[in-house]
Order: sequence, then structure tokens, then C-alpha cells
Amino acid sequence: MTIDQVKGYVEAEIHTLQRAQNARVTTPEWLILESHSPFHLQVSPEAIKGGFFKRLTALQGGLDGTMFYTGAAFHTQYSSLLWRFNKEKLIPMMMEYW
Ligand SMILES: Cc1cc2nc3c(=O)[nH]c(=O)nc-3n(C[C@H](O)[C@H](O)[C@H](O)COP(=O)(O)OP(=O)(O)OC[C@H]3O[C@@H](n4cnc5c(N)ncnc54)[C@H](O)[C@@H]3O)c2cc1C
Repeated sequence: MTIDQVKGYVEAEIHTLQRAQNARVTTPEWLILESHSPFHLQVSPEAIKGGFFKRLTALQGGLDGTMFYTGAAFHTQYSSLLWRFNKEKLIPMMMEYW
């Protein structure tokens, strides 16, 4: 969606809520609006078949066990799952090298 479409959608939803409450219908003042797209970056099925994730995972422990990676690019776009990945996968992997 474009920024204008997002604003239009949000404002229409606010108007729906205001009307439902018999409140005065007002247009909100936008103080800040930031686009976080692209959010869920994905690789193509062809790239996956071609070993993309094998090569990505192979980067862990590179440079003689001194380089480890975490974050959405290496696991998933959810901070809670990233913390679990760090605790249960990444840190044990690092400890194997030390
Ligand atoms: C609006 C929004 C709502 C969200 N809500 C939730 C939620 O409710 N629950 C949930 O689990 N997840 C949520 N997420 C997802 C979660 O925030 C991300 O999945 C997670 O933060 C990804 O972690 P990351 O370490 O990969 O990236 P980030 O947390 O984005 O960390 C990357 C860091 O690198 C820094 N950086 C970037 N470029 C450079 C550079 N060149 N040099 C130095 N530093 C750099 C950035 O400043 C940033 O601090 C939300 C995300 C967004 C955008």
C-alpha cells in the first residue's frame, strides 16, 4: 500500500469508530508515519533450491570461529523468536568454538 492509502485506511477506521460512538468525526493530525517496508524479505524458490540457506548458515562461525550472525535476515522477523534463536542456537554454537 502507498503511504496515502495507509493514511486513508487509518482515517476511515477512526471515522467508523467515531460514528459508532456518536462522537464528532474529526481528521487526525499525523505527527509521524514511517514505512517499514520491505518487511518480510524473501528469497525465490529457485534460490532456496540452489542452496541459499545452506550458504547463509555456512557463514556462522566463519573467519576461524570469530563471526556469528543473528537477526531477521538469519532467522525470522520476530524479536521474541530472535531472542530464543540467540539463546538456544547461536550462543551454544559460539560456545562450541570457544
Ligand atoms: C512496526 C514494527 C512492529 C513490530 N512488532 C513486533 C512485535 O510486536 N513482536 C515481534 O516479535 N516483532 C516485532 N517486529 C519485528 C522485530 O522488530 C524485528 O523482527 C527485529 O527487530 C529484527 O531484528 P534485527 O536485529 O534483524 O534488526 P533491527 O532490530 O532492525 O536491528 C538492526 C540494527 O542495525 C542498525 N544498523 C542498520 N544499518 C547499520 C549500519 N550500516 N551500521 C550500524 N548499524 C546499523 C539499526 O540501527 C538497528 O539498530 C516489529 C517490527 C516493526 C517494524
